[in-house]
Amino acid sequence: TETRKLAKYLASLGYGSRKEMEVAIRRGRVTGWGEDVEFDGEPLDPGPGMVILMHKPAGYTCSHQDQGKLVYDLLPPRFLKRDPKISSVGRLDADTTGLLLFTDDGALLHRLISPKSDIPKTYEATLARPLEGFEKEFFASGSLILRGEDKPCLPAELEVTGERTARLTLSEGRYHQVRRMFAAAGNHVEALHRSRFGPLELGDLSEGAWRLLTEAERAGLA
Ligand code: URA
Repeated sequence: TETRKLAKYLASLGYGSRKEMEVAIRRGRVTGWGEDVEFDGEPLDPGPGMVILMHKPAGYTCSHQDQGKLVYDLLPPRFLKRDPKISSVGRLDADTTGLLLFTDDGALLHRLISPKSDIPKTYEATLARPLEGFEKEFFASGSLILRGEDKPCLPAELEVTGERTARLTLSEGRYHQVRRMFAAAGNHVEALHRSRFGPLELGDLSEGAWRLLTEAERAGLA
């Protein structure tokens, strides 16, 4: 029954079916005890409550169903067989790059993507046309109304970083919000990169790479 319990747990982590895991255990592929269990000599994946930080490349979609390249394809296939399921924390457009989180923690997910969540997210935008100078005040005003909506956007902080580049920090997340805010300012976003999500930064993680959050980072997201 210890074997059965462990097999069930390994199956919930996506390593294989319960049957396959019972066989694997009997063949000695699972070693160690307690905190230090290994599967085929590799540390076991974390249990439920995992959070993954990815540097999303352009050309990958955050959906599960779409044709084409999916952000999920960049993770080990067993992660997609986990129970509870992992999902991206919100979505980035296919052509947006940068910081994307995944979690299997439903409560955390809802806290992070709830319309009431006021976690700041920072985007680096490259624009089609030079900034004109009014944008910082316009975005900070709390009176910018996106096309097709009636509630104004919360004040957002714009830092102009170049003639056609700017860093925008939002405390809400509406559909295509960054693109639509710049459209409301008569400009057009040509490239978009998310550099921060709350206290988290991408650091030197390369495009397409991912890592698990540390305990401290996970606690800081709470
Ligand atoms: N705003 C956008 O317009 N696109 C994103 O991918 C994220 C925020």
